[in-house]
Amino acid sequence: MARDERTILHCDMDAFYASVEQRDNPDLSGVPVLVGGDRKRGVVCACSYEARPFGVRSGMAMARALQLCPQARVLPVRMERYRQVSERIFEIFHQYSDLVEPLSVDEAFIDVTASRRLLGDGPEIAASIRQTVRDELDLPVSVGVAPNKFLAKLCSGEAKPDGIHVLETGDVEGYLAPLPLGRIWGLGPRGVEKLRRHGCRTVADALRLTPDRLRALFGVQGDRLYNLLRGQDDRPVDPGRERKSVGAEETFMTDLVDLQDLERQLWRLADQVSRRARRLGLGGTVVTVKLKGADRTVRTRSHSFSEVVDQAEPMVAWAQSQLADLVGGQPVRLLGVYLAGLAPVSQLGLFARDERRRKLDRVRDSIRDRYGERGLTRASLIGLSGSVQRQADGVEDGD
Ligand SMILES: [Mg+2]
Repeated sequence: MARDERTILHCDMDAFYASVEQRDNPDLSGVPVLVGGDRKRGVVCACSYEARPFGVRSGMAMARALQLCPQARVLPVRMERYRQVSERIFEIFHQYSDLVEPLSVDEAFIDVTASRRLLGDGPEIAASIRQTVRDELDLPVSVGVAPNKFLAKLCSGEAKPDGIHVLETGDVEGYLAPLPLGRIWGLGPRGVEKLRRHGCRTVADALRLTPDRLRALFGVQGDRLYNLLRGQDDRPVDPGRERKSVGAEETFMTDLVDLQDLERQLWRLADQVSRRARRLGLGGTVVTVKLKGADRTVRTRSHSFSEVVDQAEPMVAWAQSQLADLVGGQPVRLLGVYLAGLAPVSQLGLFARDERRRKLDRVRDSIRDRYGERGLTRASLIGLSGSVQRQADGVEDGD
């Protein structure tokens, strides 16, 4: 790769949730594993590579997946666990560059342009990242190496499972030409259909469309599409891509009606939210409670605090006062707690008066980090029944 070009990596863990489960439980290695909701109304969030020859994909209804692959082992989503592993993965990514842009819990762009002098070229850095993730976490990660984000993401898809795919500038045109237009980032099924009506099925077909024609079809996005079709994408890797909220939600195995049960769940979810926020060094000013009834109607209610909070108590105190009214006597299928209006806590200095409590929180967090969610728990949580944990900000693991 020429020295004046950027080197962008797209790193994507393979079947992340399923790989973590297989690693944590050796009995599952080599076995089709589906991670997701329950067998009746759940969705597959991740499936191991052993399940894929049966036609199982993430995002599929669990019931359908089990028709295709009845011998699969079904496991609940353990989001806390995946987040723990994810934090370590991102620490590794950060050893190679400061420019790390997370796309999800298991996926990131890394601009290693400035690291090349010290750490070697793109493929060498990619190999090193893969080896480090393998050595330290015993998990597979696929890496695409290319001059920009668009191409790097295509390449990591090409690299799967457990590989590296490198695209040099000289090879871009030939690589893109035969690709179906659905592979172009941001071009949804409707866009693909529009282009098909103009006789275009592949990237090569669409190259004959002028910028004016593309603008007529796609508005301002037409210019971007014109460039992407030519493998050009100058968007920077943006490490500052900010989180808008921190949340946790729970879909219950059986609908809850008892207010005390719901309050216990409220505590547990708020605890998780506050712990996540603290781990990120963030607090928030807006708390939202979300509730889905057995009839699937969703109700939310939000409250703004006059100052930034990162602890469960104020969130629960407010939410408890709303609960009876929100529930309205209906059975509850899902409960969620979110914290938004996020800001770094360190810059606020609001908590000096709470220093003792904050120390306690830190001790609690570290015990849980070491021993898991059950390592320490509020007295009121003991005796909770099992339920399906869902990731609050995007349920699917993808690949
Ligand atoms: Mg992945």
